[in-house]
Amino acid sequence: MEPHSDKSLLRELPKVDQILLHRDMTRLLQTTPRSVVVESIRNSTALIRKAILEGQIFEPGTVHDRVLQKAVALIKEKTRPNLRRVINASGVVLHTNLGRALMSESARDTVTAVSSSFCNLEINLESGKRGSRYEPVEELLTRLTGAEAALVVNNNAAAVLLALGTMAKGKEVIVSRGQLVEIGGSFRIPEVMEQSGATLVEVGATNKTHPGDYQNGVSENTALLLHVHTSNYRIVGFTRETTVEELVQIGQATNIPVMSDLGSGFLVDLAKYGLPKEPSVQETVAAGADIVTFSGDKLLGGPQAGIIVGKRHWVEKMKKNPLTRAVRINKFTVAALEATLREYLDEENVLTNIPTLRMLTESQEKIRVRAKELEFKVRSLVQAKVSLEVIKGYSQVGGGSMPTAEMPTYLLALLPELMTVDELAVKLRLAEPAVVARVRDGKYQIDLRTVQPEEIDMLAEILAYVINYGEVIRS
Ligand SMILES: *Cc1c(COP(=O)(O)O)cnc(C)c1O
Repeated sequence: MEPHSDKSLLRELPKVDQILLHRDMTRLLQTTPRSVVVESIRNSTALIRKAILEGQIFEPGTVHDRVLQKAVALIKEKTRPNLRRVINASGVVLHTNLGRALMSESARDTVTAVSSSFCNLEINLESGKRGSRYEPVEELLTRLTGAEAALVVNNNAAAVLLALGTMAKGKEVIVSRGQLVEIGGSFRIPEVMEQSGATLVEVGATNKTHPGDYQNGVSENTALLLHVHTSNYRIVGFTRETTVEELVQIGQATNIPVMSDLGSGFLVDLAKYGLPKEPSVQETVAAGADIVTFSGDKLLGGPQAGIIVGKRHWVEKMKKNPLTRAVRINKFTVAALEATLREYLDEENVLTNIPTLRMLTESQEKIRVRAKELEFKVRSLVQAKVSLEVIKGYSQVGGGSMPTAEMPTYLLALLPELMTVDELAVKLRLAEPAVVARVRDGKYQIDLRTVQPEEIDMLAEILAYVINYGEVIRS
């Protein structure tokens, strides 16, 4: 039967004031600007009018409630923040798209403290004179890395740009062809070099660069020997990389400084926990690099920042570069980074206090127990048919770090009967909080390594809700 358009239903369309008086609206008005509420009711009325005219609504007596419901939905949509909480069930510990490192409890506390009260960001409380915003982190960084001096900027891309611009503007920088990396977001070594005003001199081949290649590349215009840690890819097979130590030897013989961009610099050796052996920040400093740069929010597990450590005269020169002011860190970064670095002074607890390190070093048994707990809780909440199974798999470090590392993990694999696995993935991404996991081998796979212990109950409820009702309707 053709749906008929019943114009008489238009008479049922309520007035804005009538909807405004409804209990649901008076409640929403306590937290929502009146203008948003009124606009949503008008938009809702227009949509329902259109539906009536198109013959999509033909039950008398339902119009008022439809306008009300649609208005509530529109208000919720409008007032929901765009940046939302996500449960990371992807198994990628440092997921750039999910905001990289989680902060330690101490870092969260200090950020809250400096958000709600003034702080001594640039005042020395003893002398009452102007102080440096970098001081609290400089001391910790030199102590932890063994470097003479330190400086922190907005991110590591800025750190590399600042270092190159300060040490090699108008001069040549020698880099191995095997290390001309692209980090993503169009951060490529050749392009950053150009921006900094330095000239790139490529030496060696993609798979092999010998110390002699650097030596042959040196001219009277050479200002820097640059080593870039190939953090997000590996060249395997017939390879030869010149180490930072070897570069330092050439640098000393030719009086040219050496810089190492570590990318994902770390302070704790993770090889003991089955991760690949890579040089730490301390080792790179000890190898004699004049300048070392790394990110604050990769393996260090702190806030977004670009950390520069090394020889004092170079760091002092960078501090005087006007670019430093343009890429300076804010008080939240200072607060979170100081707290993060302090955690490293407590060697016994650092692996549990820094969420990134905890996720990377957690025992398989603990992950398995969490997977079983989630399975049990989902089973007790679902009524609709679903197959649930705890299986083995692998997690990734992510954030362009240790690309070949395979960390054995446990996953909860789901196969719903009332919808496809892809539909389930979409519905879970739209839930509150959103859930991001992997679809693999025809199953929805939740990696428990990156799910926080305190998120298990919430995740079980969201999963059960979506499986039972097809979507998450939450008030
Ligand atoms: C990640 C990375 C960068 C960029 O660091 P951000 O903190 O993301 O700006 C630079 N160099 C290397 C080698 C990296 O791995």
